[in-house]
Amino acid sequence: MSHGYTGKILVADLTAGTVAVEEKGDAWYRTHMGGAAAGMDYVLREVPAGADPLGPENVLTFFGDKKVQTMTIGRAGENLVKYACPVTYTSRAPGRTGTGAVMGSKKLKSIVVRGTGKVTPHDPESLKKLTQWGAKNVRVNVAMAGLQKYGTAETVMAQQSVGGLPTRNWDSGVFAEAEQISGERMYETMTLKNDTCYACAVRCKRVVQVENLGVEGRYGGPEYENLATLGSYCLVSDLERVALVNQMCNKEGMDPIALGATIGWAMDAFDKGEITLEDTGGLALPWGDADLMVQLAEMVAAREGFGDVLAEGMEGASKRLGGRGA
Ligand code: SF4
Repeated sequence: MSHGYTGKILVADLTAGTVAVEEKGDAWYRTHMGGAAAGMDYVLREVPAGADPLGPENVLTFFGDKKVQTMTIGRAGENLVKYACPVTYTSRAPGRTGTGAVMGSKKLKSIVVRGTGKVTPHDPESLKKLTQWGAKNVRVNVAMAGLQKYGTAETVMAQQSVGGLPTRNWDSGVFAEAEQISGERMYETMTLKNDTCYACAVRCKRVVQVENLGVEGRYGGPEYENLATLGSYCLVSDLERVALVNQMCNKEGMDPIALGATIGWAMDAFDKGEITLEDTGGLALPWGDADLMVQLAEMVAAREGFGDVLAEGMEGASKRLGGRGA
């Protein structure tokens, strides 16, 4: 068996209700290095071309370390919101691709994994030296200082300075109120402490709290991408409500990047008159309305009213509206 793997892959058939262990040979691990390649091998072999992502032919693959404990979908996954995602530790999610909706389509609420086997490295001594060197040097590396202090949110002002901050449904790369949703502002006003992924010395994760809105530290804090899509993308400069929607996404199991981008698309289409009050059930969608953002996040998770349309993502929503806003 190649080093770095346990050599066991658990295969669950949810239709038959069976679980089996597959053991691949050394050659397979050498030609499918890393979790992404191993998972893709299963997808390419098992899923027929053109399969419905939410149909029974699709498969789910998870290749991670034994630290993964519980992965759960929320209301968004149960309601098949197209950008639903499972969440672990209340603040970590493999987002973007709608994995939560796939789990929801299979009526799979949670996955719990507990690893007991050992993974043996090829050269334990060298690995130990390398990790010790990393722990000591990454922390004091000047290139990491901003990431450690502000998290990925430091990127807001960096992108703003080069005209690359997605603004007004990407109509612009500069947001006049960028400072209000910046990593610096988050650090000064709501950051409780840093958090980290397993054994990482960088510690770029944020833990934020906004007492008056019920934003709790256990749901983490917004990353750069979430600040951009829930913020500048929609001309929203209310950092507290961006943090609240970020928390709602972690609670409901929803990708905040896709949510913010879809809302930004809808605000743009509404502004241009391509979608109207008739389409939205009487709900106006003005740019920059932070309370509306909170309301829409709830409506999408529940697939309620116009939220049911936005739950399809911007392409699906446009199709539902007869191609408008495309
Ligand atoms: S491993 Fe986690 S904590 Fe470390 S840099 Fe990456 S995202 Fe940040």
